[in-house]
Amino acid sequence: MTDPSSTSKLSRRSILVGVAAGPALTVAAGAVVAQTATTAAQQAQTALRDAKGTKLVLLGTSGGPGPGRTRKMTSHVMLSNGAAYVLDCGIGVIDQYALTGIQFPALRSIFITHHHADHNIEYGPLLVVGWINGMHLDVRAFGPPPLKQMTEDFMRAYKTTVDFWAEDFKMKPLVEVDVKEVSEAGPVMQDDNVKVSAVIVEHPPVKPALGYRFDFKDRSIVFSGDTAPSEAIAKLAKGADVLVHEAMHVPALESYMRAEIAKGRPVRFEDYLAHMKADHTPVEDVGRIAQDAGVKTLVLSHLVPGIDGITDDAWRSLAAKYFMGDIIVGKDLMVV
Ligand SMILES: [Zn+2]
Ligand SMILES: [Zn+2]
Repeated sequence: MTDPSSTSKLSRRSILVGVAAGPALTVAAGAVVAQTATTAAQQAQTALRDAKGTKLVLLGTSGGPGPGRTRKMTSHVMLSNGAAYVLDCGIGVIDQYALTGIQFPALRSIFITHHHADHNIEYGPLLVVGWINGMHLDVRAFGPPPLKQMTEDFMRAYKTTVDFWAEDFKMKPLVEVDVKEVSEAGPVMQDDNVKVSAVIVEHPPVKPALGYRFDFKDRSIVFSGDTAPSEAIAKLAKGADVLVHEAMHVPALESYMRAEIAKGRPVRFEDYLAHMKADHTPVEDVGRIAQDAGVKTLVLSHLVPGIDGITDDAWRSLAAKYFMGDIIVGKDLMVV
């Protein structure tokens, strides 16, 4: 685990570098962002260091492929008994993973829910950057087809790059990754820490799109993935400790999209809304599903729209209409 004081030293240094290099106004804003990020990272590191039992870290909590936001694209890591399990690989997964202080040799398995870019675009880079930082060569990957072919194609594309470092540092090159494709509901894998199972969710036209359940010895964690309101998720999550569910705030999404279209985004409001409603779950329905499943804690993540300015209360109150348990509005690097 990384010593938090070294991270804070580094960040102070980057802030100072920023002060020397950039115009005053940008620097002030950048410094605030850097400080906030450091604080969240330090909090995550402390929480993981003091943790007893399995922990989940929300690495990125924004839904969709919007870059440059306060919230990163979707990714998570679970840490149990010193082993790390990553679920989804939106842009930001590598940096956010590193900020938790979890070391790359701890990474055992990677799970992909479906092949939208906000869930898989940094999967290949995670393998290569993970490898150079000590990830073991027997790391495994799980996800819908064609994950095997995608992994092989990526490794082929990066063979030269991998080989340069392998030669330079006398390292065994990362040549292939053990991939298991998941195309139906049922058991996915089991090791000494966890038993993983999956269901098919509703996310047209993406087929199959998966939800996952992780049964650790001390704790069960379920991920909806991206889905319209799903019976399968309510069933999968029966009695789970934690349900991490995607959530859409419809009124906020409507005003966000109207503003985007006014700025020239080439999409019709009705078409966009119809797609979102067929593919995603309004936060009220998330509350209903969590209540149905009888989970202890509901974590709202993959927030749509994943922009600043929607208060925690605005998210929570809609889910709380139907769900009586604990509701957590996800934030990047939050440890649950
Ligand atoms: Zn998504
Ligand atoms: Zn999706």
